[in-house]
Amino acid sequence: MAGTFDVAVVGGGPGGYVAALRAAQLGAVTAIIEKDRFGGTCLVRGCIPTKALLQSSELYTLAKGGAPFGVVAGNLSFDWPAAQKRKSAVVDQLVKGVEGLLKAGGVTMVSGAAKLLGGGAIEVAGERLQAKNILIATGSAVSRIPLQGAELTIDSDAILELKEIPKRLAVIGGGVVGMEFAAMFAALGSKVTVLEMLPQILPMVEADLVNAYAKHLSGQGAVIHTNSKVAEVARVGGGLQVRFSTGAEGGAVDADQVLLAVGRSPYTEGLGAEAAGVKLDRGRVVVDDHLRTSAQGVWAIGDVIGGIMLAHVASYEGVCAVENMAGHERIPDYHAAPNCVYTDPEIAHVGLGEKEAKDRGLEVKVGRFPFVAAGRALTLGQTEGFVKVVADAASGRMLGVHIIGPRATDLIAEATLAVQNGLTLEQLDLTMHAHPTLPEAIMEAALAAQGRAIHIPNRRAAAASGGANAPSPGSA
Ligand SMILES: Cc1cc2nc3c(=O)[nH]c(=O)nc-3n(C[C@H](O)[C@H](O)[C@H](O)COP(=O)(O)OP(=O)(O)OC[C@H]3O[C@@H](n4cnc5c(N)ncnc54)[C@H](O)[C@@H]3O)c2cc1C
Repeated sequence: MAGTFDVAVVGGGPGGYVAALRAAQLGAVTAIIEKDRFGGTCLVRGCIPTKALLQSSELYTLAKGGAPFGVVAGNLSFDWPAAQKRKSAVVDQLVKGVEGLLKAGGVTMVSGAAKLLGGGAIEVAGERLQAKNILIATGSAVSRIPLQGAELTIDSDAILELKEIPKRLAVIGGGVVGMEFAAMFAALGSKVTVLEMLPQILPMVEADLVNAYAKHLSGQGAVIHTNSKVAEVARVGGGLQVRFSTGAEGGAVDADQVLLAVGRSPYTEGLGAEAAGVKLDRGRVVVDDHLRTSAQGVWAIGDVIGGIMLAHVASYEGVCAVENMAGHERIPDYHAAPNCVYTDPEIAHVGLGEKEAKDRGLEVKVGRFPFVAAGRALTLGQTEGFVKVVADAASGRMLGVHIIGPRATDLIAEATLAVQNGLTLEQLDLTMHAHPTLPEAIMEAALAAQGRAIHIPNRRAAAASGGANAPSPGSA
């Protein structure tokens, strides 16, 4: 395995493997080193397994509500081991796919934990390789907090491997990871309680979307405690108890499993980064605007540099970094980084929120369109939620789009294209949208921002409150 490379990538997650493939496309002799499975957190214990299981819980929910559609499933039940088996098959197929792509791309795959030795040298499993450029893409690991009884909790890695659905699940942390598991297990019949220290769950999402979602989750029997600080987890009888305080009030939740989902931290264990001259700041690899670290010829991307810790951001940065190595000028631009939450209904947003824009002193126009007025949503039987478009008042340039509703995580792609390229409301509404489709709701929200919505009275469109499912005057 010892050898000399133009580029050596440490870490085979969505940041590292995409960077390695792009480096090879650019003609670099490239190696990628991975100590676990290629695909990283995202493929093995993050994005993909969660979405595979969420697909199972969504199908179950749809089947339970099938009667009005003419689908009657007698004796419907949920087979958790079967869902787990399918999840693992999806992961295995994707991991194999990544390995196949790396092989086909001519990238040398090395198994083992990499240690930086300085001067472009890397040690892996007792062997040494040399590279002109090294890319650190070692990702992140589950964050721990000093909590009494923390050893009784499970993390996002462990919950993916549960042998059975917990009857009662307490989730500490109402961020994206916590809420996706809360949504999944609430749909599967667990009695879910979410404990969040901040005033709202999903703190990066606009409050009106969160309120609409919280209402839905509560309708499934889940309980959400915000402004609540967990004091300890204790064993009580055959189960667990989470003790917390909300202001001056104390509270306790009984549970069979407690998920601790309080975020992720950059991971550099055993990498020897600092000894090799790579500056860290509270565990995070420090990079400049070109993704260079403080050590000559060493670059870093993805979760390990902090910032927006998402798979597509890691991949995007990976491409930027190797293109910079090749002499291109790629400074990452994050203003249109989409953010998705795979709850039911889904939530997705891109760009500035209404409040964020106003806080920056911008004058904005806002347009809303409820899915209940979209014909496609009615045919799907999924009418909860709305699209909200935020645009610059003077120029009409789209600053942000916020969606809660069916397939929000797919719908955000059109909005991302618009925000990334500074399209105006008019450019969006002049683009023909196929009928009946969900993206029509984005077009209608853009029209609503200009007082010209077609399928909702504009008086109501302008005033529509976030979560309102206004009755349709005549669906699109
Ligand atoms: C439950 C969960 C759900 C998520 N869902 C989503 C989602 O839906 N969408 C989304 O965008 N993001 C999601 N994420 C976040 C996403 O997984 C990460 O942002 C993404 O994986 C980061 O990519 P990366 O390449 O930076 O690091 P990682 O994917 O963490 O990959 C780093 C790799 O480096 C390897 N490594 C570390 N140190 C060494 C070493 N010294 N030598 C060799 N190899 C090493 C690790 O084994 C690992 O495979 C989710 C995360 C979790 C936990």
